[in-house]
Amino acid sequence: MIEFMAVFLICYIWHTLGITVGYHRLLSHCSFTCPKWVEYFWVLPGYLAFEGSPIWWATIHRAHHRYTDTALDPHSPKYGMGNAHAGWLMHRGYANHINPNTQSKDLLKDPVYRFLEQGGVWHRAHFITFFIGVTFRLLILFFFGWIPALASLLAGFAALQIPLMLNVVCHIPKLGYKTYATGDDSVNVWWVGILAMGEGWHNNHHASPGSAKSGLLPWEFDLAWLTISLMKKLKLVHRVNVCTVEELVGKQKNQIKQSLSLQA
Ligand SMILES: [Zn+2]
Ligand SMILES: [Zn+2]
Repeated sequence: MIEFMAVFLICYIWHTLGITVGYHRLLSHCSFTCPKWVEYFWVLPGYLAFEGSPIWWATIHRAHHRYTDTALDPHSPKYGMGNAHAGWLMHRGYANHINPNTQSKDLLKDPVYRFLEQGGVWHRAHFITFFIGVTFRLLILFFFGWIPALASLLAGFAALQIPLMLNVVCHIPKLGYKTYATGDDSVNVWWVGILAMGEGWHNNHHASPGSAKSGLLPWEFDLAWLTISLMKKLKLVHRVNVCTVEELVGKQKNQIKQSLSLQA
């Protein structure tokens, strides 16, 4: 039981950081730059948590930021809880207003990501994700036995649930608090902040999507940011975008001033 719990916990943190640091802050928002091997190092645990094609993930996420909580948002709970959680995954392909060829040109340059994307045919890309994810656990089974294999598989499924759950919970205003007036329904939810390694500070993230740091106030624990800053100290990452509380407050004051002068 101890072996199972230890492997589960280590794998859960590894996969969730892969989603947070790799898929989200690096690929989707380019919040820092790094050598290709560091990028793959973080994208791999996200992929092995059944997150799917990196191009698909980033394209859908960029659309979420472009159309947050409008009818064009791929997964806003305002337009149905079922669709916001996992219903949107069941679609056959991209909606007309979402196109990786124009919205994820940067990621299409990478041959590995292009292969995993399968030309935008979702069911084929998902099948490859599932096949590679299961094969990885079969290799663990073969070399290390069934306990670590099962723990790794369940940790992968648990990590998979995190962004799906976050898309719903962090866009229901009554479930969290808002620090910044972002004009959408995004909120900070403390327990999602812990489970998602820092992604639960979602109102902060919508206020400054390009920031590598989402936990801005002292109690907003952000393990993904601690990981990125450790990599910075080790000189594994180069440019790191960070938005501070002061900058965000200043930005908001300017926005309020601009809207008041437009109304005048
Ligand atoms: Zn959001
Ligand atoms: Zn984002």
